[in-house]
Amino acid sequence: YEAHHNPIGDLVEDSIRFVWRHGVAAAATREARGPLAVSASGVHVTDADGRVYLDGLSGGSAAATLGHGRVDVADAVHAQMTTLHWVSLRTFINEPSIELGRRIAGLTDAGLQTSFFVSSGSEAVESATQLAKSYHRAKGNPERTKFLYRKTGYHGTTLVGASASDNQEFRTWFAPLAPGFVELDACYPYRRPDGMTEEEYGDACADAIEATILAEGPETIAGILAESIPAALVLVPPANYLRRLREICDRYDILWIDDEVFIGVGRTGRWFGFEHFGVTPDIVTSSKGITGGYVPLGAAIATGRVMETIYGDGAATQAKVSGHTYAAHPTACAAGLAVLDAIEKEHLLESTARIGEGMIEAFRSRYAGHPNVGDVRGKGFLIGIELVEDAGTKAPFAKQLAVGRRVMDRAMEQNFMLRATGDVITLFPALVTTQQDADDMVAATCRAIDEVL
Ligand code: PLP
Repeated sequence: YEAHHNPIGDLVEDSIRFVWRHGVAAAATREARGPLAVSASGVHVTDADGRVYLDGLSGGSAAATLGHGRVDVADAVHAQMTTLHWVSLRTFINEPSIELGRRIAGLTDAGLQTSFFVSSGSEAVESATQLAKSYHRAKGNPERTKFLYRKTGYHGTTLVGASASDNQEFRTWFAPLAPGFVELDACYPYRRPDGMTEEEYGDACADAIEATILAEGPETIAGILAESIPAALVLVPPANYLRRLREICDRYDILWIDDEVFIGVGRTGRWFGFEHFGVTPDIVTSSKGITGGYVPLGAAIATGRVMETIYGDGAATQAKVSGHTYAAHPTACAAGLAVLDAIEKEHLLESTARIGEGMIEAFRSRYAGHPNVGDVRGKGFLIGIELVEDAGTKAPFAKQLAVGRRVMDRAMEQNFMLRATGDVITLFPALVTTQQDADDMVAATCRAIDEVL
């Protein structure tokens, strides 16, 4: 036994036995396990074999927006933990959460005001739906309980998150889901009908939303859950689509919950994705980038208008608000403040917009006219490359070819982390990604794609 003793192998076995890995169906197989990460710095992650991976995914799920190993964030967390690590929001208010709430409210001129701080994106989404129900109750409309969500969307894993997500595995496995969630089509400009301009398509998608609302009965609908830029497939919409969505929500008093868990806090080169389109949501959800992944935190952020409706003229005594043990966790909020400071001081919105745009351009020129690259799209450090069997007809590859999956595996073999959602190759690097890192990432992505295609 001693001769064959392999501490890394033992850890992999232990991880199968003792840690239920998330998001992997075949959790009990060795193959389904990733490598054992032991350290990380900047945009590089090192595993137990000493392999160093270039991180095109901000840690894998888009949270490590400041990169890895930031001493400034660690110092802020340490200082907060040794001063007031946590006290319950039920008993005490705490300064870091007040300051972070104030800072978030001031990031944009969208009228965002009040943050309901939780610990994850799924909880933020769930809380946003509760806020929306509170809004309608306060207006005397408790029968408004339905939520609309879109195909290809992802909003988390809790019952509400899964019910609002187009993830067929969750939908089947966790059935029955929450009632009152109604599916809309995605707005997928690359796959719009032939002969339609993007703007006409944006209008057609908005018309379809309105038709669904009328068919369901506007008086039954509380809100619509829609990312301003759906991240999984990088579906940058035509600007008129979100403007029309805003108008429709206003017309029927339906709240737009803009899920910015993935793209918020800088990823697209603005604080929030909605800023690209000149529209303002009613409730914004945030997580991941809000603390750069250093400590878990999420938030449902409501506009002043929504909060005044919930709390205005004595309604406060009526409003029921859920609460978590870790609500507005002081240490998590301290990490959030350190992250916002870093983004501002290091001008990371500007560099994200500039370097991200350069990466998108590099992919476009590299693959112009390529028979299997249908579309290159994105905003800032949210980039998608859609691979197809025939770029002329946009016909997708047969599923069983698993082209996207093979590109992802090929990249990992070459020590580069990218993601494939179906055959859409996605990159979401950290905001601290330099021009040199970006050049390396473009080269590594092209190498993996070219070797598979
Ligand atoms: N909403 C969006 C848009 C997401 O991308 C995610 C996670 O990827 C979630 C919600 C759920 O967040 P969490 O995994 O922190 O629960």
